Amino acid sequence: MAIYSIRMRASKNNEHISGAERIASSMDIQKTVSALINRALLHEIGKPDEINISVERLKQKKIKKLKALNITTILVDDYKQGRQCASQLLELIGVDKRAIKKAMDYMANGASPDKKNMRGAMIIDYKTGKRIEPDRYRGIRASRMDIAKQAEARLISTLKKMRINNPYIREAIVLATKVANAPETIAELCWSDEPSYQAGYVASKRFGYVRFPYLKEKGSPFGGRAFFIDSKKLDLEMYINFLEQQAVLITRIGRCKPPVNWNTFLNEAVIPAP
Ligand code: AMP
Repeated sequence: MAIYSIRMRASKNNEHISGAERIASSMDIQKTVSALINRALLHEIGKPDEINISVERLKQKKIKKLKALNITTILVDDYKQGRQCASQLLELIGVDKRAIKKAMDYMANGASPDKKNMRGAMIIDYKTGKRIEPDRYRGIRASRMDIAKQAEARLISTLKKMRINNPYIREAIVLATKVANAPETIAELCWSDEPSYQAGYVASKRFGYVRFPYLKEKGSPFGGRAFFIDSKKLDLEMYINFLEQQAVLITRIGRCKPPVNWNTFLNEAVIPAP
């Protein structure tokens, strides 16, 4: 059966307001396109001026199948505590304090040069905090990724049990799994630009998808993503090519652990049981 990458992006006043994508068989193209258009029309910012849909056939053999990252939620009282724990986790993964602070400052104030949200992610050196993405307005957009139907059903049921099921988290897990599986990625930091969505995450191969219910002030329109890498070792072109072009399908889900506080997380995840 022919398999397609279907991508939607919507804009208003010449600014990107929403984007989403799926991988679907030829049989499912129509309903997938219609769901993506509905999503663009229902965006909280208002009706878009333009909706672009692209449908592109994928070479099936070239689709990389991956297992989703394990999911952990760390309970925090507010976004300040959330950012503090997220910083500590990034440090544990090996990201330097300087780089963490720079990434968070950018994300909290609009990371593009005109102080707006970027459409994609920053690529940040894990030691110096230097940004190396070629276009600071657009950033790098991870693309051509999705979760297979059966795995999605399992993921939804697991997330429901944990009372954290929503489309943002499902899509973020797919994106974070793809990004973390690029060998060059040291860690990812993300919080949404949707004013009403305060949760965010730190993702890495070692600790999986670690979610913080609050990483952003309520009502803030600023969000973003930072992919931390070692710029001394990175082949930037190859890295970007993987993130943007390599088709990835999640076929298995990881473990989803009950929420824990920071100290419990440290004891369980960092100090291995004897
Ligand atoms: P969202 O989680 O969709 O609210 O996105 C939060 C931020 O992540 C956006 O402001 C973008 O900077 C970035 N972003 C969104 N989608 C992607 C993507 N596909 N790849 C890389 N970065 C993204």
